[in-house]
Amino acid sequence: MFTKILIANRGEIACRVAATARRMGIKTVAVYSEADASAKHVAVCDEAVLIGPAAAKESYLRGEKIIAVALATGAQAIHPGYGFLSENADFADACAAAGLVFIGPLASAMRAMGSKSAAKSLMEKADVPLVPGYHGERQDADFLHAQADKIGYPVLLKASAGGGGKGMRVIENSGEFKAALASCKREAISSFGDDKVLAEKYLQRPRHIEIQVFADTLGNCIYLFERDCSVQRRHQKVLEEAPAPNMPAERRAAMGEAAVAAARAVGYVGAGTVEFIANQDGSFYFMEMNTRLQVEHPVTEMITGTDLVEWQLRVAAGQRLPKLQHELAIHGHSIEARIYAENPEKGFLPSIGTLRHLDTPAAVAFELGGTTAVGITSPANVRIDSGVRAGDAISPFYDPMIAKLIVWGADRAQALARMSLALSEYRIVGLATNIAFLKRLVEGAAFSGADLDTGLIERNHDTLFPPARAASDAALALAAVALIASEKNGSAARSGAQAGFNLADPWGQAAGWRMNQPYARLLSFGDEYAAALPAKAYGVGITYRASEWLYTQAGQPSRVLSLMSRHGDDFSIKLGEQAAHGTVRRDGDVFHVFTGGQHYALTFNDPMAHAGETETEGGRLTAPMPGKVVAVLAAKGQQVKKGDALVIMEAMKMEHTIAAPHDGLVEEILYGVGDQVADGAPLLAFKAAA
Ligand code: ADP
Ligand code: ADP
Ligand code: MG
Repeated sequence: MFTKILIANRGEIACRVAATARRMGIKTVAVYSEADASAKHVAVCDEAVLIGPAAAKESYLRGEKIIAVALATGAQAIHPGYGFLSENADFADACAAAGLVFIGPLASAMRAMGSKSAAKSLMEKADVPLVPGYHGERQDADFLHAQADKIGYPVLLKASAGGGGKGMRVIENSGEFKAALASCKREAISSFGDDKVLAEKYLQRPRHIEIQVFADTLGNCIYLFERDCSVQRRHQKVLEEAPAPNMPAERRAAMGEAAVAAARAVGYVGAGTVEFIANQDGSFYFMEMNTRLQVEHPVTEMITGTDLVEWQLRVAAGQRLPKLQHELAIHGHSIEARIYAENPEKGFLPSIGTLRHLDTPAAVAFELGGTTAVGITSPANVRIDSGVRAGDAISPFYDPMIAKLIVWGADRAQALARMSLALSEYRIVGLATNIAFLKRLVEGAAFSGADLDTGLIERNHDTLFPPARAASDAALALAAVALIASEKNGSAARSGAQAGFNLADPWGQAAGWRMNQPYARLLSFGDEYAAALPAKAYGVGITYRASEWLYTQAGQPSRVLSLMSRHGDDFSIKLGEQAAHGTVRRDGDVFHVFTGGQHYALTFNDPMAHAGETETEGGRLTAPMPGKVVAVLAAKGQQVKKGDALVIMEAMKMEHTIAAPHDGLVEEILYGVGDQVADGAPLLAFKAAA
């Protein structure tokens, strides 16, 4: 077995690999970019070496530099994680040439499966069923257009070298073909350096079911059952589970054997995933093979009691697979939710910022790679694979995944209940996350009823994106109490008094007590998460009394409000007859109230704080995040209609279209194709028609 390995990745997967290596007594070398100097993966590895600037191209994708670091530090093998260099056959060759073990399949297998087109041709020969389509060499637009017409719409265009749901376009009719092809090729070349595409029939209501395969160098090749990854947004997985609901044993065996045949056809070694797209009737077709460890591998580990990274290390060291097919069985049910820094309400746009507060599900959870790491084969119910800690930033340079939350249950119902609870205990302040969305998704009838297909999110749009709900009285009262408490603490600190919260002591009050008459104030809170409701603000009247307050809100009878207890940021209050508990995390003016399984972001409109500030200038269309301009579709002086695409930006490996908010006139274009733009930078000057 190796004594030292280099982990050529970052984030949660680097931490996760490090945890297994540590458990096996193997030393680890991290590599990191300038943006990651204080990242968790650097902290959890035994050694760490800086390899370049933030941009992945100049750091995590620099194979020759990473190999030099491995040689200099005496590592014998390189684990590539997923993404970055994990499916780069040239890198695997370069490792071998340098005398290093690449922890993954042979370069020849990666090449065979690296192109979706070539892989489909190969599978065709191995009699693995394929989705009808064109995956040949010819790439001229007219030819491809004719192929698409022949396949029949809707048609899916895919970057042959694609991955991560990028480089795909669904085309509904022939008229859309040309524009979609151009945009698909543009994304393919910028994301994968290769603009080759394939076209295939776009299936209706399919499920994504994939098989985990594993092979050793001694000729053993097995499958570790399936994962259902049908719940997707933008063709990227959001929830994954194992086993797939309603999977008959015979079909499981048939898919498993087809996957093993696919792996054997390319002389596969190590961990791999064969992805199938399945119709509701159970018929299934080969989609692609991912020649690496998959993001969602933990659900397989949870139901099989295995550590797939340990298996990878053993196989790479020439050992036999720890278990053969007949020794494997499915135990219970596991679900994974990908927690992203993104804004589901704004088209899942990635969100950049700092994790000011990070609370992970209490007690049951353990962090891989953290100091409390438990062996990952232990029968824990909740597992968190995360590459970030409180105070870390989600930057525009890398994937915005914050963590993977994985639960196990004896059956699907128990796993669902645990996921729902764990999500409500996952609290993040500082950037937008998909946690509330995930909770609605997990609790919604479609997912909980296992009515799965890749269109689940779109089809249930109305329930998954409910109209902004008004902040509850309890949330507002908790915010008000937290605000008053913070003022009180300030004064206590200044006066050097005991930090307590004695409402009966008027001298301990920061801003309340008045001789002879009760003091009343009106607090105004804006509701950040109700942005859809124009200028949603709440006025809360608080009248101070000896040991309690009187709480008033427009249209409601006054109620007595009292603080029952407080531990740090956890408050228990009583409002009228209603008891409420919650955690209030303050981030500047924003009070993040977590109560009743909900997260409210209430901005205190401090009448004193913003005096003298002016409104920001209107009429400019700004960059939603830092990125690059890839197309300018409007010209100076052009009249445009509401919704017309004006500029296309690429940021975080995705294209974003900036469209006209109204009919109007483009007065000025401020950037050209290829320009880098900062977050919030005005892209063009626009004048709405009167
Ligand atoms: P999976 O099928 O396991 O979800 P994906 O194909 O979605 O795998 O990609 C795996 C992960 O690697 C994703 O988080 C994706 O964003 C990331 N990824 C994909 N391509 C790259 C790349 N070129 N560089 C860095 N990360 C990448
Ligand atoms: P990637 O390399 O980005 O993972 P895949 O080929 O695996 O690309 O496809 C990603 C997702 O796109 C699938 O999980 C599925 O939801 C959808 N998809 C792919 N091919 C088809 C198809 N022919 N019909 C319908 N949906 C498809
Ligand atoms: Mg895929």
